[in-house]
Amino acid sequence: MSTDLKVSVEPRAPRAISDGYILVVDDDPSICDTLATMLQFKGYRTDIAHTGPAALQLARREPPDLVLLDVMMPEMDGLAVCREFRSDPLLADSRVVMLTARDGRKDVVQALEAGASDYVTKPFYIDELVARVRTNLEVKRYHDDLAAMLRISQAVSSSLEIEKVLYTVVSELAQVVQSDRASLIKIVDRHTGYVVATQDDPNLHNLSIDLDGYPEIQKASAEGDVVVVEDTHTDPLIGPVVHTLPARKSIMIVPLRVQRADLGEYVLQSSRRYWPYTEHEVKFARVVANAAANGLANAALYEQAAIDNQRLNRLANTDDQTGLFNHRYFYQRLEEEFKRADRYRSDLSLILLDIDHFKQVNDTYGHQQGDAVLRELAAVLHRTIRETDQLARYGGEEFAVLLPETNLSGAYQQAERLRRQVKAHYFEALSGKPLTISCGVACLPFSSEEFAAPRHRQDALISWADQALYTAKRGGRDRTITFEGRPSHE
Ligand code: GH3
Ligand code: MG
Ligand code: MG
Repeated sequence: MSTDLKVSVEPRAPRAISDGYILVVDDDPSICDTLATMLQFKGYRTDIAHTGPAALQLARREPPDLVLLDVMMPEMDGLAVCREFRSDPLLADSRVVMLTARDGRKDVVQALEAGASDYVTKPFYIDELVARVRTNLEVKRYHDDLAAMLRISQAVSSSLEIEKVLYTVVSELAQVVQSDRASLIKIVDRHTGYVVATQDDPNLHNLSIDLDGYPEIQKASAEGDVVVVEDTHTDPLIGPVVHTLPARKSIMIVPLRVQRADLGEYVLQSSRRYWPYTEHEVKFARVVANAAANGLANAALYEQAAIDNQRLNRLANTDDQTGLFNHRYFYQRLEEEFKRADRYRSDLSLILLDIDHFKQVNDTYGHQQGDAVLRELAAVLHRTIRETDQLARYGGEEFAVLLPETNLSGAYQQAERLRRQVKAHYFEALSGKPLTISCGVACLPFSSEEFAAPRHRQDALISWADQALYTAKRGGRDRTITFEGRPSHE
């Protein structure tokens, strides 16, 4: 709807341009002119069409709030036009009031069946017609508000992304109360705020604003109640900052009642060129503010739950002592990595590694120092593996490394790197006495028979690596053995 058309220059009570856009359709030009003039006088914006096709063309350019539609017209009668309105999604929200020449019951039934919202019989009484128009526009308005509320509450309950929720809230508000701008602002303190959402730009959040430039926001926040500025150029509240406002505006500030104190304080701001907000619009904004508050609380709840969940999962999957993944998680990963290998038709390898003569470490330096060695070793291993590899504490002094998309020779090289890094590491807890590990490596190639047996492949891979590790120990330790029996070159 054009905002320029009827913005009044009078100091007070400008005509509300939201009164409605009405399309008058009648093949009799004098009826059209009379109706249009009279409706304009009542504050409505009007257009005229003398035929059905012309009416549809106009309506598709700007869907009217209401159509006054003559039934008897040559070329295309009113019933056909009305059916067209009902079947076109673009026009489906327009109210259609039929002008029926004859008073017959049949005509009325036909009009209603064609989807008319109401009818007036010709000849009509002006005040009856105006009353019908007003009532129908009111119904449409409630219908539109309800539809907007439905969209808002759907957004609030279905999206867990807080930014999306808040953007929907402000853009729907802007549309229903016909604002030039609507924003949701988080209040930090009396002087500072953040724009967390605005209808101009779905990607804008957390733009800092100096609240000393917005006395209306400060007032709404301090009093916890709605503030309506009818005219920024005459309201004393705006006086001190009026020189910063280029255009004359009306503003409405609605505080949100957020139940959870930890979420902080918010206000909805809505403004438009000088044209005061009606009581109805303020009421609607209050309802929207409530929905936004619920949306905020919901999203915060979900966010917290997601964080708690993550923390719990981490706790359940982690080994306290080393901070590495535990045995349980390793098994879970193993299964997932096999599924991924299925998808990408890739090989999966496993290194099992075990500290050599760790019992002696405990015996010599004490159990506590032994624990410290385990932690240091975990750190060395963690630093040495690739990002895609999964490292877990498999047992007491035994570790597992899962290597996705890696064949046997790749895994062998990786195990050797680990072995050398550990051997070269200066262990604080051992005062520099070297520590060695033995590694057993196995690979299940995608093309192998074992790979094709989902129930047994995890066990096969582990058992092969374990056998290789056993061979490495028996062969003298400090070495890497692959399941095929290839010895370390050292
Ligand atoms: P091998 O070279 O054959 O692996 O000899 P090893 O002594 O390392 O192997 P063995 O399995 O005989 O002994 C493992 C030792 O690791 C015994 C156990 O007390 C110790 N151990 C296991 N978990 C921990 C732990 O969490 N902390 C400490 N300090 N020691 C542990
Ligand atoms: Mg050992
Ligand atoms: Mg052991």
